[in-house]
Amino acid sequence: MNKTPVEQLPGVGEKVKESLQGIGIESVEDLLYYFPFRYETYEVKSLSELQHDERATIEGKVIYPPSLVFYGRRKSKLTLTLEVESMIVKAVLFNRAFAKDQLQPGDWITVTGKWDQRKLQVTVSQYHKGKAKHLQPIQPVYPLRGDIKLQRLKRWISSALSFSNGSLEEYIPKLYLKQYKLPTLFQALHTMHFPENHFALKHARRRFVFEELFIFQLKMQLLRKKKKEATKGNTKNWDKISLQEFVDQLPFELTDAQKQSSREILLDLKSPFRMNRLLQGDVGSGKTIVAALSVYAVHLSGYQSAIMVPTEILAEQHYQSLSELFNNRVKVVLLTGSIKGKKRREIVELIKNNQVDVIVGTHALIQDEIEYSKLGFVVVDEQHRFGVQQRRILREKGLVPDVLFMTATPIPRTLSITAFGDMDVSTIDQMPVGRKPVKTYWAKEQMISRVLHFIEEEVKKGHQAYVICPLIEESEKLDIQNVLDVYQQLTAYFSPVYQVGLMHGRLSNEEKENVMREYAKNNVQVLVSTTVVEVGVNVPNATVMMIYDAERFGLAQLHQLRGRVGRGKEQSYCILLADPKTDVGKERMQVMTQTTDGFELSEFDLKLRGPGDFFGKKQSGLPDFKVADLVHDYRALETARKDAQQVIESGLLETEEFINLKKIVEQDPIFQGEILD
Ligand code: ADP
Ligand code: MG
Repeated sequence: MNKTPVEQLPGVGEKVKESLQGIGIESVEDLLYYFPFRYETYEVKSLSELQHDERATIEGKVIYPPSLVFYGRRKSKLTLTLEVESMIVKAVLFNRAFAKDQLQPGDWITVTGKWDQRKLQVTVSQYHKGKAKHLQPIQPVYPLRGDIKLQRLKRWISSALSFSNGSLEEYIPKLYLKQYKLPTLFQALHTMHFPENHFALKHARRRFVFEELFIFQLKMQLLRKKKKEATKGNTKNWDKISLQEFVDQLPFELTDAQKQSSREILLDLKSPFRMNRLLQGDVGSGKTIVAALSVYAVHLSGYQSAIMVPTEILAEQHYQSLSELFNNRVKVVLLTGSIKGKKRREIVELIKNNQVDVIVGTHALIQDEIEYSKLGFVVVDEQHRFGVQQRRILREKGLVPDVLFMTATPIPRTLSITAFGDMDVSTIDQMPVGRKPVKTYWAKEQMISRVLHFIEEEVKKGHQAYVICPLIEESEKLDIQNVLDVYQQLTAYFSPVYQVGLMHGRLSNEEKENVMREYAKNNVQVLVSTTVVEVGVNVPNATVMMIYDAERFGLAQLHQLRGRVGRGKEQSYCILLADPKTDVGKERMQVMTQTTDGFELSEFDLKLRGPGDFFGKKQSGLPDFKVADLVHDYRALETARKDAQQVIESGLLETEEFINLKKIVEQDPIFQGEILD
C-alpha cells in the first residue's frame, strides 16, 4: 500500500505530526486504520431509572458557571450544576479544566459516567456539548496516549477520510466482496470511525475480519509453499509389503486417526519436497506408534532416523518402547548426556558408519561430534521444549531430512491454523479403544484426610500414586520448601508400610532418574513431586494423581499431569485439591471433572484466557490482529484458510484481479531473506 505522510492533511503540521507519531501514526493510511478498540452506545435514561453506581448517560442544562478547583500537582476538578428533568444534578469532571471555557449557563450537555444515587451526582467519563439527539448514537472509543485528545483525533481521521475519498485503491478482489457481501474499502473505513448504526458497523467489521485473516492465510500458505520449493528433499521409497507386514504384527489395530496421520506422513516422505509437519495428539493418543511406523518406512528406504526428546527419562522410555516395537528389525541406539566414555565413543562410531538405523536421544544428538551417515528423518518430540536453533542444527546434520514435530499439548484448531500456518498439521483426535477415562474429582482442602485414605486404599491394592505439590510462581525455593513439607507429612502417614519418594527440579539428573526407576519398579508407592513429572513419564501401575492447590495450575498443565495416570488396565483417578475463590476458578475445576478430552479443554481454555495468553506471552507466535478475534471469528478463519488455499493452488494470485492483494502479501518481511527458519 502506498503511504502518504500525515503532513499532507490540511491542518497537520510538525506538532501534530509528532503527537501522532507517539501513537504510531506516520501516514494518512495509518490514521485510517487506527481503529477504535470498542464502541459505546449512548442511550439517555430518565433519572428515575438510574441505579446507584451504574454507568449512565443523562442530558441536562448548565445552570451556573462551572466551578474549577486545582489540587495536587496539575490535578483539577470541574463541577457543573445541571438541571435534569427539573432536578439539580452535579456533574464532576476530573482533569479537564479546559472544558470550563466551553460551557456557559444555558448550554445543553450530555454526560456519561458513574451515577451516585445519594449525591445525585455523575462522575463524568465522556461528555458532549448539546442534547443527546445530536450525538452519533454509537461512539467509537480509541486507544489514546500522550496529548492526543479524542475530538481532535476524530477530526484528523475525518480529514484523512475526505482526503482519501476516491483515491483509495481496493485490494480485496470483487469476487469476495460480492460473495460475502462485504462493503468496499472506503465504506468500511468510514463506518469503522463513524458508524451510523450497528448493522453497518457489523458489516464493516466483517470486512476487516475477513481481510486480516485472508491476508494472513495467504502469507502463511505462500510461505509454506516457498519453504517446500526451496528445499527439494529426498524421495523415500520403501517396500510396501514389508511395511504392511510390520503394521500387521503390531499388538493392536491402529485407530482411524492414527491411520490417517500415518498416511499423511508417509505421503510427505514419498514426495520430493521436504516434510515440515506437526503431529498433535492428546496424551496417550498413540503418537509414538505413528512415529515408529514412519521411522520404519524411512529405514526400509535406506535412511537413518533421529528422535530428539527433551529429557533423559523420556529418551529412555522412547528407546525402550521403540526397541520393543521393532523387535530387532531395526537397530536402535540411545544417546544421552549421561552416556559417557567408551560406550559413547562406540555409539558415535556406529552412527557415523551407518551401523544404526534409529538414534533416540536428548540434546546429545546435536553435539558437534555427532555425525550421521545418512540421516533422512528427524522427529522432535514435545517440540515446544526446543528452540528454533536446536531444531535447525539437527536438521542440518541430515541430508535434507524430513521433519516431524510432535506435541501432546492439544491446540485449538484456530490457533494451530494461525500459529503453525506454515506447517502441515496432522491430528490424532481419538483415543485407542478400551481406554478407561480417568475419573476426576474436585475436593476442598479440608477433605485431605479422606483423600489420603483413598490413596491408601489404592496403594493397598498394589497401585501407586503421584502427589503434586503446590506451585509457587517465580520461586523455585518456595516450591522446594512445599514439596519437602508435603513429603514429610506423607512419609509420616504412609511409612513404614509404604515407601514415599521425593522428586523436584533441584535434584541432579542422576538422582531424578534413580527416583523414577524406583517408582517404575514399584519400590516407591507414593511419589511426591513438583511438576517435573509433567511430561511423558509413563508408569502404568500408577492409578492416582493428586494435585494440591490445583487452582494455581493452568488447564493444559492439569491435563498433562492427569495424563500420567490412566495408562494401564486399571481404573485411574485424578483428585484436584482446590479452593478457588473466583467463578472462573470454580468453572475451571468443574470442567476438569467433566471432560478428559484435551481438545475440548483447550478450546475452553482459549475462550477463558484469549489467544494471547494461551501459549504464554513469550512464544505465542500469534499475529496481532486489529479487528479479528481468534475466539469469536473462527468460522471466518476457516473460510479465509480455504479461500487462500484455493487462490494459491489455482494460481489466481498471479492474475490481474489479485495484483493489489499480492503486493500487500509479498511486502511482508517474512518473504525477505532466508525462507527457512
Ligand atoms: P502418546 O501420544 O502420549 O505419546 P503413546 O504413543 O505413548 O501415547 O501411546 C500410549 C499407549 O497406548 C502405549 O502404551 C501404546 O502402546 C498404546 N497404544 C497406542 N496406539 C494404540 C492402539 N491403536 N490401540 C491400543 N493401544 C494403543
Ligand atoms: Mg509421547
